[in-house]
Amino acid sequence: MRIVLLGAPGAGKGTQAKKISAKFGIPHISTGDILRNELKNSTGLGNKASEYMQAGKLVPDELIIEIIKHRLAEGNTGNPFLMDGFPRTLNQAIMFDNMLASMGISVEKVINIFVDKAELVKRLMGRRICHSCAGVCHIDLLQKGSENRCPICGGELYTRKDDAIKVIKERLRVYENQTKPLTDYYAKKGILYNIDGSGTENEITERLLQVL
Ligand code: ADP
Ligand code: ZN
Repeated sequence: MRIVLLGAPGAGKGTQAKKISAKFGIPHISTGDILRNELKNSTGLGNKASEYMQAGKLVPDELIIEIIKHRLAEGNTGNPFLMDGFPRTLNQAIMFDNMLASMGISVEKVINIFVDKAELVKRLMGRRICHSCAGVCHIDLLQKGSENRCPICGGELYTRKDDAIKVIKERLRVYENQTKPLTDYYAKKGILYNIDGSGTENEITERLLQVL
């Protein structure tokens, strides 16, 4: 399976990608996670990307393409993948198609998870991440008095720096302008599947499984 997950920040791509990846044993490639990891380790790439990420802007295409080339070179050609957060611009999508074509493969399915804007803002504002297990949860679902503890493993929770309201607004604006047009690009190729991203995590997983 060679799948691309599309959707706005907060649509639930990361959460669903982890589940699908575990169920089918497909490598989950999240450019956001890769960049955050580079940032944490203060690598050259991390330092170059940090300014953009903190402002809610996109990291330049050249840097992202390098990451993907590297990541794909790690496996054998023809290996399955589940892309989360990539491609994010038309240019990235075209470069990605060319890269895959040179390997004799292509993207099989693009799944677009759609959620309305008010809901996205609400989800991102309340999002908390666990330091220990990297699990994602929402503040509204945490027990009163233990808002800092992961409900899965008890680890300490933190808020992503780019989940501040000003940066959220910028990320959503960037999504509308630069990433949303990709749905047309993939629809024209006949490989786009739209699924409703509202409801519970399991409901969304069920909808995803139906189109996979
Ligand atoms: P979200 O989808 O929740 O905004 P991600 O974790 O996918 O967050 O990405 C976080 C940030 O990393 C983005 O705001 C952007 O700065 C950068 N980034 C991730 N993937 C890409 C990409 N494919 N192209 C450009 N920038 C990217
Ligand atoms: Zn945890």
